[in-house]
Amino acid sequence: MTDLNGDLKNRDVVTSQGFDWHYFVSQLVNPNFIKASWTVTKLSIIAWTCALLFGLLLALGNRAKNPILQNLTTSYIWLYRSLPLLVLLIYIYSLPRFWEASSVVLSDPFWAGLIALILSESAYMAEIHRGALQAIPHGQIEAGKALGIRYWAIQTKIIFPQALRIALPPLTNQLVTIVKLTSLLSVISLTEILLVGQQLYTRNFLVIETLTVVAIYYVAIVTIVTWLIKRFEIYLDVTKRKNKQPEKLTSLTSFSNTETTSILSNNQKSKFVLELANLNKYYGHTQVLKNINLNVCWGNVISIIGPSGSGKTTLIRSINGLTHLDEGTIKLEGTPFIQGHKNPNKEFYERIVHLGMVFQNYNLFPHKTVLDNLLLAPDYHKMDKEESKRSALILLDKVGMIDHAFKYPHQLSGGQQQRVAIARALVMKPSIILFDEPTSALDPELVNEVLSVIAQLAAEGMTMLIVTHEMSFAFKVSNRIIFMENGEIIHDDSPDAIRKSSDKRLQQFLNQCEH
Ligand code: ADP
Ligand code: MG
Repeated sequence: MTDLNGDLKNRDVVTSQGFDWHYFVSQLVNPNFIKASWTVTKLSIIAWTCALLFGLLLALGNRAKNPILQNLTTSYIWLYRSLPLLVLLIYIYSLPRFWEASSVVLSDPFWAGLIALILSESAYMAEIHRGALQAIPHGQIEAGKALGIRYWAIQTKIIFPQALRIALPPLTNQLVTIVKLTSLLSVISLTEILLVGQQLYTRNFLVIETLTVVAIYYVAIVTIVTWLIKRFEIYLDVTKRKNKQPEKLTSLTSFSNTETTSILSNNQKSKFVLELANLNKYYGHTQVLKNINLNVCWGNVISIIGPSGSGKTTLIRSINGLTHLDEGTIKLEGTPFIQGHKNPNKEFYERIVHLGMVFQNYNLFPHKTVLDNLLLAPDYHKMDKEESKRSALILLDKVGMIDHAFKYPHQLSGGQQQRVAIARALVMKPSIILFDEPTSALDPELVNEVLSVIAQLAAEGMTMLIVTHEMSFAFKVSNRIIFMENGEIIHDDSPDAIRKSSDKRLQQFLNQCEH
């Protein structure tokens, strides 16, 4: 700074000489500037990439249920966001004075600067990632869980690709910040662009000419790296992507039309697909499931009806472990599957694919094509690629979506998305499919296309448990209808018996639904 003040005192000399264009142009190709720019670019990109990854781990730790991990990451973020980079830089560069062994790495200003930048920037990036991760709907995680996908694969295959798209613009900003922050590294004698400039103008007093060259180098670096990231951002944005259609759909259609596949699971060894015994669930002091007992035979189509808040969703979700029970046991295909409040074991995750789940809001993976939505689970479970692709296409044909195999979910109507979701639930050949109000998020004119797919599955002998408000559909396709109220099964009977029931409350509910 003293040098700069000294130089500015010579302003008169500089002005009287005017802008030295010759010097300016010659400095644009000064090898020292070029070398320093390469150092800055390298340092910025490595620091950004490492801070991005480390920040992601911090964000995940911060969102974890473990309170120790939460507190550790919160403290880290708080500390490194509060510390000025300059102070951190000097601390790290001076560390060898107190800890000699560290001099192997830290005596090199490049490494000391890199470490300081990563420590400081990862705290900012953790907050960016946290925001992006929070923006991904919880249904995405649940859809992954329902397909038997474990935590880490859910993060890497489903959550990160979507969160990265949201986080990329602020992360790009952070890269620009890092490029500019590298100028601070001159205090630890790293030969970066500003230091090269300072060394020049302290000798020749051509401050403005030299700083203009410095500015041009910084602008050039920022422009190039942000352009590269922008390309990546566009690549990640599926809404700007054209349909990828690598194969001729006509050939796929003809091949799928000639084949038939049984949608039915071949695990039919036990009498019942599902046996629920004494299920109880509390939210605080409120009991939302009261001693639920229910056996489901193979090929049964059971509709669960009842007023809002009666526990239908809780019941369906507790069957595949999305909601934890407090008490009770669930047997799947004759063997224990869920036991009370115990955490799921390894076997649970292997067998969960025997239960298909269709959600109210479809929960398709928006960054994957229709076909890839179907193939995610088979790929994860390491099933034969050709075979799973063949079954996925046959299923898409079955739900009338084969022509849309290479589209993304946002290019489809709600009804089409739900039909894809049904195909996705069928792809692992489940023993039973659970539906939680599959049509209640749809516009009225789209309801029938989904109901007819479900009715077709019923006719083919698929075992299904359907929470629905579509009464005429429920009465048409079900062998059994369950009426729930206040967490209890009040009636469990044939559609005919339910219709003829003398229970006033039930008749009042049915009348309400018809209007
Ligand atoms: P339904 O699907 O029949 O409308 P739900 O199973 O969604 O009913 O809800 C049953 C009861 O449990 C309701 O009273 C609801 O408010 C309560 N409930 C559901 N989920 C939660 C939750 N995560 N926390 C607290 N209460 C909940
Ligand atoms: Mg519900």
